Amino acid sequence: MIPEPKANSSPLVWVIAVPSPLHRLFEYLPPDGEAFNPACGARVRISFSGRDVIGVFLESRLSRLPNPSTLKRVTSVIDVAASLLLHEQSALLQWLSDYYLIPPGEAYLLGLSNTERKGNLQWEPPLDHVVLREGGDPLATIPKRARRQRDAIALIGNNSVSIADLSEQGISTSVIRSLLSLSLVEKVPSPPISRHAKRASPDLTEEQKRVSIELISKLNHFRAHLLEGITGSGKTEVYLECIKAVIANNQQVLVIVPEIGLTPQTKARFEDALGCEVPLIHSGITESDRGRSWALARSGLAPVILGTRSAVFCSFRSLGLIVVDEEHDPSLKQQDHPRYSARDVAIKRAQLCNCPIILGSATPSLESIANCDAGKYQHHILSERPQGTSLPSISLVDTRGLALASGLSDQAITEITRALSRDEQALLFINRRGFAHSLQCEDCGWVAGCHQCDSSLSVHRNPPHLSCHHCQTKRSTPRQCEECQSIRLSGRGVGTEQLELLMHRLFSDMPVFRIDSDSIKNVDALTSTLDSISAAGSAVLLGTQMLSKGHNFPKVTCVVVVDADNLLFSPDFRAEERLLQLLVQVAGRAGRATLPGKVLIQTRCPDHPLIQEVANNAYSEQARRLLARREELSLPPKGAMGVIRCDASAETNAIDFLDSLKKQLPSTSHARLLGPMPTLMTRRAGMYRYQIIIHGPTRREVHVVMKKAIEMGSQQKLARKVSWFVEIDPTETL
Ligand SMILES: [Zn+2]
Ligand SMILES: [Zn+2]
Repeated sequence: MIPEPKANSSPLVWVIAVPSPLHRLFEYLPPDGEAFNPACGARVRISFSGRDVIGVFLESRLSRLPNPSTLKRVTSVIDVAASLLLHEQSALLQWLSDYYLIPPGEAYLLGLSNTERKGNLQWEPPLDHVVLREGGDPLATIPKRARRQRDAIALIGNNSVSIADLSEQGISTSVIRSLLSLSLVEKVPSPPISRHAKRASPDLTEEQKRVSIELISKLNHFRAHLLEGITGSGKTEVYLECIKAVIANNQQVLVIVPEIGLTPQTKARFEDALGCEVPLIHSGITESDRGRSWALARSGLAPVILGTRSAVFCSFRSLGLIVVDEEHDPSLKQQDHPRYSARDVAIKRAQLCNCPIILGSATPSLESIANCDAGKYQHHILSERPQGTSLPSISLVDTRGLALASGLSDQAITEITRALSRDEQALLFINRRGFAHSLQCEDCGWVAGCHQCDSSLSVHRNPPHLSCHHCQTKRSTPRQCEECQSIRLSGRGVGTEQLELLMHRLFSDMPVFRIDSDSIKNVDALTSTLDSISAAGSAVLLGTQMLSKGHNFPKVTCVVVVDADNLLFSPDFRAEERLLQLLVQVAGRAGRATLPGKVLIQTRCPDHPLIQEVANNAYSEQARRLLARREELSLPPKGAMGVIRCDASAETNAIDFLDSLKKQLPSTSHARLLGPMPTLMTRRAGMYRYQIIIHGPTRREVHVVMKKAIEMGSQQKLARKVSWFVEIDPTETL
């Protein structure tokens, strides 16, 4: 037994959140000679496992360790004056750590920009502008022959002028240097947020007005609002009305979108309507730009911040509203460590800030609909498109027994041809990139598979190779079957490359835009392609999910879902919801301006209830049916779920690890433990993945088991031979 320390012999220690995989806080002695505690959330330098790292100070207290004399000292305090983590942020990050079971040291660092996490000072605006110094007439002191200096003084006048602008007007930096040394001008920081004239916004429809007024009347306290608006109904107009009201009240707004690809369009639209810069936070911009956005939000200088998932942790001086657009989108869930749902964190944050949150979608998640039904969220509906255009008409094309050209039926080709002949655009959605889904031997049925994964290799033509879409393995296309040496090899299943080829062949004089992750490598490429689409007349757009997300294509009047079936028979309990949302979103790309739209869904299962529903009923009706089914089966949103997943290069290690862990977990009548079971794609990138699913009536019960798993997991014999993690509210259970 270790004796309890006597209270009066325990030294005062600092409790530090240290970035490490360990689920606990650490005690350090204060730095030598440090008389004062820093503010809660201040960054400190410490030595941890032989490395210098940045930690976060939380509190000081008497040591709780039996032998505190071995404690190390904090090396130094970085944030001496004030903490960069604001009070409400610290509360959010502590909740994040508790709820998603993220080690506290890792959770706290999420509240800082990347450069701040490295110990750098907060971003400051650069001194890249000049103004005239007060007092005196500068022209009186400058000799007549110093013409450039006199020109510069005239150009600066009473304004703050950027040195770059002056140089464009022929004032060299040496002239500026002379003026600085004569103390006639001084450097000042650039204005933090650029402002410009607002562009007139379109008149709101009666419906948009009604919903905006209702929302604006509830801006002064926490409330979650679900804004369900059919595709093209102008949810953004409603967001903007609310944002203007919040800014007018000197508060700030955080807007979260699911994909980086949606930020350029949204940013441009918001800046036009609000007349000020909207800084971005996402991984596609430089660390220094992100640091700038972070600092502008923290200081209160940026009225609106737009970002993807990680922006939910940004500091705000006075947050007055959060908007989460496309709230149903699975991309809002971070799929690797640290795992969290940005939507759910945003709701918690709004609650902590006592500000409202608007969740917007044409196809709300079943969770949000259930929360409306339970009275937890307020439901607002936009059911009309502003120009009075109706939703596109949807027809099913039964492809059984049809001869398809690269996956397309004659009917689809006819509709595409019609749209193009009217100078309109056609959009083809197919959920597979590459030329063909797999390469198969015509004689023996052999399929080229990935040696690392339980998956076939996709065929690519440009350049020719086979590629695994799960582990990114690439290899050259074989000429012969590896089993029977036959040379009769053919591609199965159509991908975007093949469809693109067909479109070029059929419509040789039409521009064809392919949008998938092979053709669009970054957000700039996406933006420029979207610009070209918007500038083009008739054109064919084809691509994967990238095309379905939130983008507005006013000239598209014909949408073809090339193959609805490959998503239809997934065993995941969320698969139907996802497919439904995807089809409704893709269909919604058609006919969004004044032109009516037509949607063709090609399927070999035209009688499948889900396909029938998409064709005949509104999303809200279909969602209620799915919700009733989940209720019956006690699946989320009813009850709660968690998973423990384990990856190992030796399959038995993954099974044995989970088996022995499961024996130590409390299985009560409340929380059921299922497994260990293999995940649907058991082998991925050479690792075998198994899981235990925990299912309980409430999150509390699931949490009890998950916390125990974290405690016991690292003590397992096999813990060093496997990699494992826990996930609460998993979006996939396969
Ligand atoms: Zn063969
Ligand atoms: Zn692979």
